[in-house]
Amino acid sequence: MSVRVRFAPSPTGNLHVGSARTAIFNWLFARHHGGTFVLRIEDTDQERNRPEYTRSILDGMRWLGLDWDEGPEAGGDHGPYFQSERLPLYREALARLRREGRAYPCFCSPERLEAVRQEQLAAKANPRYDGTCRSLSAAEAQARIDAGERYALRIRIEHDEPVTWEDRGKGTITFAPEMLDDLVIAKSDGFPTYNFAVVVDDVGMAITHVIRGEDHISNTPKQILIYRALGAPLPEFAHIPMILGADRSKMSKRHGATSVVEYEKAGFLAEAFFNFMTLLGWSPPDDSREIYSQQELVRLFTLDRVVAHGAIFDAEKLKWMNLQYIKALPPDDLYRRSMPFLEAIPGFPGPYGPAALRELVGLFRERMNTLAEITRHAEYFFQEPEAYDEKGLKNALKTPDLPAVVDALAARLATVEPFTHDPIEAAVRAVAEGRGIGAGKVIHPARLALSGRTEGPGLFELMAVLGRDRCVARLRAFLDSRPWESIQS
Ligand code: GLU
Repeated sequence: MSVRVRFAPSPTGNLHVGSARTAIFNWLFARHHGGTFVLRIEDTDQERNRPEYTRSILDGMRWLGLDWDEGPEAGGDHGPYFQSERLPLYREALARLRREGRAYPCFCSPERLEAVRQEQLAAKANPRYDGTCRSLSAAEAQARIDAGERYALRIRIEHDEPVTWEDRGKGTITFAPEMLDDLVIAKSDGFPTYNFAVVVDDVGMAITHVIRGEDHISNTPKQILIYRALGAPLPEFAHIPMILGADRSKMSKRHGATSVVEYEKAGFLAEAFFNFMTLLGWSPPDDSREIYSQQELVRLFTLDRVVAHGAIFDAEKLKWMNLQYIKALPPDDLYRRSMPFLEAIPGFPGPYGPAALRELVGLFRERMNTLAEITRHAEYFFQEPEAYDEKGLKNALKTPDLPAVVDALAARLATVEPFTHDPIEAAVRAVAEGRGIGAGKVIHPARLALSGRTEGPGLFELMAVLGRDRCVARLRAFLDSRPWESIQS
């Protein structure tokens, strides 16, 4: 039997980190087994659904490289793939269960049900339906329907057996009979309940493995009862642990960004994010390694390595991982993928052509936790420094006769040809020697004058990209504005 799994987001927001992880696990499982990955949109919550969220979920999945074999825009033989278009299928299943006597109409009013619930709670019993309408005869029920009474549909279950399943993520899970009752499968407006729709869809789409967040565990016994009523074979269930913030509470906005698109915009690489997410709640056979390509993960992914308990979202680790991926990008890729973030810098592209821009990006390869950081790192390539770092100025004053040194450097650089790393380095060292000072005493003030900063890429590379004219002009501007005079030493 070939594997069929599904990812079933509700379009009530952008693709959430937790949902993305569920999607990734399903996708990896499908690809590992050469199976089918189905995307189904659970858009029955009329008030909270928005078509733009469906779009953004699809975009988020594409960004992560999660291609689906059946679903919106892909088609397939088990459609429609939007729940809102599957109403006739739910109605048909409801009608069949009624015909077969596996479901019965319940006329109990919400007020009556609430009163029963309160009584049960007061008696410290589990609230459950007391079975009032269970024993109505077919004729009686029909008479009340004909008289225009509103009714829900409930499944008739056997009350004496627990519901138990071998969860592929959690081990054996059992719900005692007291926890279960004749659950509602259609509301009085005729619409199916959430659990009923999910099961009709999973049966209709021939889903073999239901892999989802552990927040759905309490739905599973109800769904199992629905499978039984429908006479459909059960799929395997695998519930995966919730994603937790650093304080071990359920991940929320308070812990940082919770939607995938925010990570994309912040300059995380999809492949780094994918790798990171896979390790949240799943552990590779060789857990001394952390960096895995998508292909490797497809090869290694099995449900028996899903971990049973909370997976902590460690934002620092994600940044570290992203940096590893950035460092490993081929130069052209790094350039191309940094471009949107470079373009955001006021003054872009300045005097730089593609070759210089490519070198510029390369300067920051080892320093970017995210691609977006280049916007801040590289600002001074496109704008004259507006101010000079104060500590840097204090430090620069340790250079004896600072103005003369900067002046000598400017004069020397004006003659360097070609204006590339090695000749630049030779010029800087010659200036230091000429004045009888260490190279650092030239390098630090020079960096400050050129960038306003005390840190950055190697000075000689930086100068080469900035170009001779800009270097000389900035050294002169530094001399003219005499910023060191404002520093009390
Ligand atoms: N639509 C549900 C959700 O977004 C998923 C249902 C399921 O996986 O069974 O949480």
